[in-house]
Parts: sequence; C-alpha cells; structure tokens
Amino acid sequence: MTFADLPARLKDALAQRDYSQPTDVQAAVLEPAALGRDLIVSAQTGSGKTVAFGLAMAAQLLDEAGDLRRADSPLALVIAPTRELALQVSRELAWLYDLSGARVATCVGGMNPSHERKVLRSGATIVVGTPGRLRDHLERGALDLSALSAIVLDEADEMLDMGFRDELEAILEASPDQRRTLMFSATMPRPIEALAQRYQRNALRIATVDKGRSHEDISYQAVTVSPPEVENAVVNLLRFHEAETAILFCATRDSVRRLHATLQERGFSVVALSGEHSQQERNQALQALRDRRARVCVATDVAARGIDLPSLSLVIHVEIPRDAETLQHRSGRTGRAGKKGTAILIVPFPRRKRVESMLRHASINALWTDAPDREAIMAQDRERLMETLMQPVEVTDADRELAERLLTQKSPAELAAMLVHAHRSKMPEPEDMMPNNPEARQAAQKEKHRAGFEDTVWFRMDIGRRQNADPRWILPLLCRRGHVTRNEIGAIRIGADETYFQIPTAIADKFADATQRTAGTESDEEAIRFEVSKDGPRVAARANRRDGAGRDRPAHNPGVKVHPRGPHGKPSGERSDKPRGPKPAGKFPPKAKADGEGNGGAGGKPKFKPKDRGKPGFHKKPGKPGRGPKAN
Ligand code: AMP
Repeated sequence: MTFADLPARLKDALAQRDYSQPTDVQAAVLEPAALGRDLIVSAQTGSGKTVAFGLAMAAQLLDEAGDLRRADSPLALVIAPTRELALQVSRELAWLYDLSGARVATCVGGMNPSHERKVLRSGATIVVGTPGRLRDHLERGALDLSALSAIVLDEADEMLDMGFRDELEAILEASPDQRRTLMFSATMPRPIEALAQRYQRNALRIATVDKGRSHEDISYQAVTVSPPEVENAVVNLLRFHEAETAILFCATRDSVRRLHATLQERGFSVVALSGEHSQQERNQALQALRDRRARVCVATDVAARGIDLPSLSLVIHVEIPRDAETLQHRSGRTGRAGKKGTAILIVPFPRRKRVESMLRHASINALWTDAPDREAIMAQDRERLMETLMQPVEVTDADRELAERLLTQKSPAELAAMLVHAHRSKMPEPEDMMPNNPEARQAAQKEKHRAGFEDTVWFRMDIGRRQNADPRWILPLLCRRGHVTRNEIGAIRIGADETYFQIPTAIADKFADATQRTAGTESDEEAIRFEVSKDGPRVAARANRRDGAGRDRPAHNPGVKVHPRGPHGKPSGERSDKPRGPKPAGKFPPKAKADGEGNGGAGGKPKFKPKDRGKPGFHKKPGKPGRGPKAN
C-alpha cells in the first residue's frame, strides 16, 4: 500500500514533508477493507497514528473530486487525553489538510474558552480537543455535532485511565448515529473493549504492533545507583549522552520541580512540564525544546503524554514507572518514526527486583550497567570536542585580523588550549559518583577522612540557621568568597547564628586572604565575616541532629556533595526551619554581585523569592558549581 491512491492535495501535503511511504498503521487504515468502517486500532505512539487517522477520515471530509465537503458545522472531531497531545494532533492535521482548505480548531483546558467559541462559530472543519473542554462547549451549545461524520478517540486507554469516561460518553451520545468512530489505543484492556462494543458498529480490528517490534528502535539500559545518588546519576547520564533533546520522567510535580531546579543550577538548559504549569507555560516549554533553546525536559507522565519531539533521543526514567505500560509510554517518546533512541531506567538498589520483573513483563532486554563516571564523560567530551572543533567554519576578515593580533600575544598552543577551555566551560560539570557495589559503599561509610582532609583548619562565619544558612548556597558562597572549589571544603556545621567549616591547612592562609579581599559593603554576601576558629565548632552535634538531618555536611566525605533535595523522598529542607528570634539584617541567601545565571524554565518565574527562603528548590545558587572560584 502506498500514498498513490490518495486525493492529490493530501499526496502533495505528504510530499512536502517528505513522507514517501506509509507507516504500517497508515497502510492498514488505507486498505480497501478498512474504508468507511469503524476501526479499533492498537497502535503505539510514534507509529504515525495521527497521520493514520487523518488519512482514514479523508473520505468523510473530502468529496469525490478531493474538495472539502461543505458543512455549517464540524465534520470531524478528535478527542485526545492531554492538552499537549491535542495541540500536537491539531498541528499535524493542520498541515495534512492545509492544501485541502480545512480549518482546524483546538479546544483544550487552560486556553481561553471564549476565543475557542469564536473559532468554532466561524466554521471549523476539524475540531481537536480534550474531553472536559469539548463537553463544556457541547453543553453550552458552542460545539455543534450535527454534521459530524467522523469521530476519533486518540489514546483511548489513557482517557479512560484519567477518568474521562463520562465526558467521552456524553460526546459520543451527542454525535450522529451514522458517524464513523475510529478508536486508537496503545493497549486494549476490558473497559476499552466495552466502550468499543457500545459505541462502534462492526468495527475492524487493526493491530500493527507486536510486543517485540514496539521497542526495536529503542535501546534500554538499567542503571543501578545507591538511592542518594539518583540526581548525580541523572547529571552524568545527561553529560555522557549529550542528547540533542532528552526527557526525564518523575512521578510527581514536586519531584519535577526539584529536579528542574537542580539541573538548572548545574547549568543545563532545562524546562519543566507538570500539572502545576499553566497552559501558556507548557507551550513555552515545548516551544523552547522545539527550537533548541532548551535540551532537557523534566516531566510527569501525564504532562508528557503523547509528546512528539523529533530530536528526542534520550528518555531517562528518573523515578521508576508505576507499571510496564507506563514504562513503554514514557520510552515511546523516543525511537519514533524509524529513528533510534535510548531509554534509561535509574534503579536504586532496593528496587532492582521490581524493575527486573517489569522489564520481563514488557519483554524488554535491558543492559544493566553503572552510571557513567567522570572519566567516561571526559573521554566522550574529548571525542565530541575534537569533532566539533574540526568542523569547517567560515571566518571573516575581521576574525582573521583578530586572530593575527592574538598570535602576537599568545602561542598557537596557548590559543588552542584557551579554545578548548572555552568550549569545556560551557558544559556542566560531571558528578563524582560513589563506586557502585555493596563493598565499596560500606568502605565509603567507614572512611573517616579523605586525602587532603587529615589536616584542616576550622573557620567560622557569622551567619547561621536563623539566617537560613544551608549547604546548598553556603558551598558556592565559600567558593566565591574564598577562591576555593567545593572539593576543598570539608565538614560544615551550622549553628543558630554561626557556621563552622573545615579548610585544608595547606590552603587555609590563601582562603583567609581571599575572604578578606572579597569583603565589602556593597552586597549581603560581601558583608559576611570569616575568621579562623581555634576551638572549632561550638555547635553541638546533638543540637544539629535535633534540628534534622541534612543540615551538616559530613566531615568524612568532603568531596561528595550534600543533596538536601532529591527526586526521592522528602527534602530535608521541608521541615520547619523558619528563622527564630530577631530578624537578621541582610538577605539570605545573599545575592552575588555578578550573578549571570538566568532563571529561564518553563514558567520563567524567579527561582528565589524572599518569601520562599528556607523552602527546598528555591535557593538560588549564586554561582555555577564546579567551575572553580569566580572573582567578585
Ligand atoms: P505519531 O505516532 O502520530 O505520534 O507520529 C510520530 C511521528 O512520525 C510524527 O512526527 C509524524 O509526523 C511522523 N510520521 C507520520 N507518518 C510518517 C510517514 N509516513 N513517514 C515519516 N514520518 C511519519
């Protein structure tokens, strides 16, 4: 089966997109046996199902000559579970029927209903929408279904799972009896069969996917980590793969918010998609991914439902999907329309058995492996850098002139090194992962001191818990004020109005000097005072413990970052640690003077607002970590 027998304008529209061959599901719905009949199609997302139902309803939309049928109200209705999917379907049908002159209206929750009513009144041929919003329009008389000749239920299983049965039934009941009903569903559980029985007539069953085929373009990996290292694993996987576009799945809105904030702080261009974002924010986020301003999307299952981003080649299941179907739905964001993709499950050790059984259930062969470490990432970086730098570039005379000037001041070797450095510094730092086996983890627990921290000096600074001191912003602050890197800071003990921290004796003088030089009165950060503390912390360990874990940075493992928030479990900062006693002067966390980090994100909201102080995910890190000290 080819596209040859289609009406000329549809053929032209497909040719404009370079779609020369129908996908399996498209070929199946165009078979003579399927023409004019109700269809119940089990097709995976990514199989080309949108164009399939678009083509399948051509006979209802176009007359013999291939012209659009005349009607005063919509001829076709497509119902999809989420706003994103509805918008995507709408876009796809818009180009497919553009040359035919069809007008596509989109009706989704979160958009302006009166604008939608206007579009509906002005003569839409095809209406695409979500169940709730469509029923609203129907009940208010804005959606006239009397001329409807085709109705499509896209991702019908998901719509039932999301509790839209009443809405679907109301719409189906209100549609003319002689309409065609096309039902598309990734799975065919009993409630779907029942819906088909009730609302379809003599439906032709089409199944174009078998279990093995649906993931042949996706290579699966399962990466085991110890539970506190999930975020580090995410960072390293993103850095290792450097996918053009990647999507990360979390189970809840909270996890999405936290992981989004963490990745943004690490320097990734990342957007978030979850139920807490307005439709406009979601649209902006998707647009940022489409035009490559963002490369990483952190999302919940529902928000990411049906999303089609052609450049998406990496899916990371940050939190384990609830079942094998969700696993496949999420993974199906990649490996679409014949392209290759990678789906990676991050598996905390205690969940390994559960994931094994889920993969077995879905007949998926995954490669079990460790998260890439710093060395592996650096090796990949080197290869990529070589490739990038060897690409031919067009240089102007002005470029050449500047190059000549540079060569009078630096050697070619120095300039090359600077070029490499400039490229590298754009990339977020990889994380140091703990070795990934039980013995190593036990050994790490026992390890009291790491190299370089046998001999340290305690310093004291004059802000503490009452000023919302938190390792998340204290660490970068110490790096900037003291011109050290995170790995050069040992234990941190936070008291009520003071904080103690260890610096290796070898660099203690240099640190003290730098804090003097970076002191000033122009910003809150500059006003913080540092001094050597001969006696060490006067902060009782027990007092800290009573206030909750996660405040202190462990002394025994100075190189490993504290992760007070993570996609798993409640962040330590969520307990109440509101300032007690008199209100301190100054704003904490203090704002760095030269703070170039943008807030970006799906909503473009500022990440730190004064009233959010102390809440997890709102501490704006005043500098990007891992880049070494930044001169003030
Ligand atoms: P879907 O399953 O509808 O989400 O489609 C997945 C992707 O495949 C979309 O980007 C489609 O535009 C694309 N696609 C659909 N039909 C074809 C075709 N015949 N050839 C190439 N790509 C296609």
